Amino acid sequence: MSMVYDEYGRPFIILKEQQAKARVKGDEAVRSNILAARSISSLLRTSLGPKGLDKMLVSPDGDVSITNDGATILEQLQIDHPVAKLMVELSQSQDDEIGDGTTGVVVLAGSLLEQAENLLKKGIHPVRIAEGFEKAASVAIQTLGSIAETMDIQANDHQALKTTAQTTLSSKILQSHKNKMADIAVSAVLRVADLERKDVNFERIRVEGKTGGSLEDTELVSGIVIDKEISHPQMPKVIQDAKICILTCPFEPPKPKTKHKLDITSPEAYEELYNHEQSYFRNMVKAVKDTGANLVICQWGFDDEANHLLLQNDLPAVRWVGGVEIEHIAMVTGGRIVPRFEQVSAEKLGTAKTVREVQMGNERMLLIEHPMHTSAVTVLCRGGSHMVVEEGKRSLHDAMCVVRNLIRDNRVVYGGGSAELACALAVEQYADTVTGVDQYAVRAFADALEDLPLALAENAGYRPIEEVAAAKAKQVAENNPYIGIGVSSVDAPRNGHAMDMREVGVFETLIGKQQQIQLAAQVVKMILKIDDVIAQGQYQ
Ligand code: ADP
Repeated sequence: MSMVYDEYGRPFIILKEQQAKARVKGDEAVRSNILAARSISSLLRTSLGPKGLDKMLVSPDGDVSITNDGATILEQLQIDHPVAKLMVELSQSQDDEIGDGTTGVVVLAGSLLEQAENLLKKGIHPVRIAEGFEKAASVAIQTLGSIAETMDIQANDHQALKTTAQTTLSSKILQSHKNKMADIAVSAVLRVADLERKDVNFERIRVEGKTGGSLEDTELVSGIVIDKEISHPQMPKVIQDAKICILTCPFEPPKPKTKHKLDITSPEAYEELYNHEQSYFRNMVKAVKDTGANLVICQWGFDDEANHLLLQNDLPAVRWVGGVEIEHIAMVTGGRIVPRFEQVSAEKLGTAKTVREVQMGNERMLLIEHPMHTSAVTVLCRGGSHMVVEEGKRSLHDAMCVVRNLIRDNRVVYGGGSAELACALAVEQYADTVTGVDQYAVRAFADALEDLPLALAENAGYRPIEEVAAAKAKQVAENNPYIGIGVSSVDAPRNGHAMDMREVGVFETLIGKQQQIQLAAQVVKMILKIDDVIAQGQYQ
């Protein structure tokens, strides 16, 4: 204990015992870390699968979002515990790399930690557990590779891509429209994909949301959508073969600056000034029209007088377009941004087949369709409320990510926990060959893998143990690694729970599933190897 004084000379006491609390060591550290991480995974467990429940998150300033997406839930939680933060990062890395499976990865990590805790209680050293898990993970990943099937993504009008997108969407808000939404996701990705090089340029896909209408009204626009309207209601609403002049400089009659003094002493002088301003702007309009432009997009605004003059001169315009949008328009239409008015010229114009203004609810938006320079697409997500639109956007993004993944690597495994069960069986078999303490850890890994189908069944309201045992027995009896827990979706009739997921059509990408196991095993290993937690600045 020591006494110190603050800057006003007031004494206060520092207790050494509190400093000691900033440090946890040994088994206690491992246990408390496991507890923190498991509290995160148990939170997501009920969200897993097509019947998983949603979470409502309220931010400190009252914004509400409702979501089922693991990464989004964790991102919005305010978490202080350093190990719990590792779980958040885990789902984020799955999201960055793969874009889907963010709930599954955290649930798997949680189950692995639960198993590890039991092994610790038996007195097995954390490092031995970590080693066993590592071996088991590589067996599981290999098994996934061997049960995966290669899909012909071109066949049957891209049916494999659609089914995979549908599987992702079946646990999301778009569930009831999943056929249409999966079609939208697949078409969007295919338009910007290079199938030869197995490459998808995601930058050219935008997902925009607009409140109003219903989720069914979601559409795919070949081009870009801007939340702006043509500046004057009497200007044409559709411009064919648009040649677009993109300006980031002012486009209006010159305004006398307040620092200059202008004496207008007679009506004639006023008239002269007025005419001068008008002719100046008319010249500007003429300069733009001379380049062949039939639409002006400005970063800045112009007043009603200029607007009126533009209408008189038959030059439709859009004002107050944000910088990011301006750049995007320039990129897809092949136009060059004009920062100084003197530089307008024909070769700087962007081109698009049509530009049209459409009414959406009470507002209007501008669609720039079929830009000539690059193919770009926008998915315009609609929905009754802001929350629905946001969740719809997230779900579509996930669906597009899995379609992209399947284009990159066209191997699939089947969902509904079937892949996990097949891996669990393989890992169990492998455990028999392992001598030494590691064997327990390998076996525990297999148990943890089974926890995913258990959670799926539990969330669907089935009896988890019975269902998983039945599915596992059927896998062995029929020597079929595709038997999983069939969770009936809206359009698939329920005919028994242990079903062949290949027949039901629940596809997941191989790389997504492999990544889940790899990342979860890595994080668990990392957590198990921490035996000392020192809060910096608090411990000396
Ligand atoms: P994640 O965020 O991890 O993708 P989801 O909540 O989307 O989590 O759930 C995905 C899980 O749901 C996967 O394991 C997938 O196999 C399973 N799943 C999806 N559709 C079905 C279905 N019709 N029957 C059984 N399981 C399904």
